[in-house]
Amino acid sequence: MVLNRIRFPQFSDVNSKVIPHRSTVSRSTRALFSLVLMVAVTGADAGEADCQTPDRHVRRTVGVMGTLATIEIWASTEATARDASDAVVRELTRVEDLLSTWRDDTELSALNTLPPGVPAEPSPELDRLLDDVHAWSVRTRGAFSPAVGSLIDAWDLRGAGRRPTSTEITDAVARAGVRGVLYDPEAHTITRLHDAAWLDAGGFGKGAAIRSAADSLKAYGVSRARLDVGGQLLLEGGVPVTIGVAHPDSRGEIAATLRIADASVATSGQSERGVEVEGERFGHIIDPRTGRPVTPWGSVTVVATDALVADVLATALFVLGPDAGMELAEQLDNVGVLFLDDRRTRLRATYNDAMKSYLQDVPGGSIPDRHQSTFREGPI
Ligand code: AMP
Ligand code: MG
Repeated sequence: MVLNRIRFPQFSDVNSKVIPHRSTVSRSTRALFSLVLMVAVTGADAGEADCQTPDRHVRRTVGVMGTLATIEIWASTEATARDASDAVVRELTRVEDLLSTWRDDTELSALNTLPPGVPAEPSPELDRLLDDVHAWSVRTRGAFSPAVGSLIDAWDLRGAGRRPTSTEITDAVARAGVRGVLYDPEAHTITRLHDAAWLDAGGFGKGAAIRSAADSLKAYGVSRARLDVGGQLLLEGGVPVTIGVAHPDSRGEIAATLRIADASVATSGQSERGVEVEGERFGHIIDPRTGRPVTPWGSVTVVATDALVADVLATALFVLGPDAGMELAEQLDNVGVLFLDDRRTRLRATYNDAMKSYLQDVPGGSIPDRHQSTFREGPI
């Protein structure tokens, strides 16, 4: 998902509760909560693992980055859990304040208004992020690029949507990616090359915010944490949790389950957001190489310890698609990738080796031998 318009007041707790673990919340209530999340987000929790700790548990939901973030913290005292959850909210908000391009008062928006041709030095934090993201742009040969601003404008993806002419698409492609915005990792500068070029944090902002939030938790000594920021999850504390991956066509339906601990899970697909023009739907993920929204094919779910990597790769692998994407997925170290291809009557699941250790259940099929090294297909 994206760094989006703020639809909820910052720091507004939609709900906030301290829950003495295993006492006031019945299993059925927790199951119901899990079900609601499964329906509400891609890749959510299909049921908590049993937890024997006597910890205090705080759960709160806040509006941030144009979406909802649900923060759950387990700690030895209620005060610690609350303080840690405050730190998470602060970090999510702080990163939104750095990266949002839906407002003009953030550092990224300021970079986006620099006169073309003039190199600017981002702050160290933004520079580190751009450095990471730039490396993935290079590795995906431009399939992932935050410099998709000209294409977002050409298709009016932040408005009512429009179908650009082929000349407009060609022009927008010439102002996207490295031809639109140049990041120099040696000089640590960023240069807009054209007035129509701008950087969009939609493909990596949530991951960046979750990564910062996870770092901020280290100071609190919490025993366990679970964050869900608009569908991207972070699980900390060693307790394995079963995650339901939504069917790409029907978000209320679970297509596969994963068993995850100490990692972040991100899903990208084209079904959730987009615009409709003259009866045709265009999704929000654009292939910067062609200048066109990626033709919907299903969804990709990525499990990685670094939330930024999970977010970037989910978007990147969605652009690459299940075939070219699998080539990259097989080269990744310790990053699980699951493609759900819905272009045929039967949903087709393919996944890389690293995903085999997370895959819990592939309905209608079985998880192949983990020790075999080639990627596998499992019918769903
Ligand atoms: P996600 O939901 O994480 O897959 O990110 C999708 C968002 O990333 C879109 O709404 C755009 O803001 C942005 N985006 C679209 N296409 C690309 C791309 N090829 N590379 C990087 N970001 C993109
Ligand atoms: Mg992403």
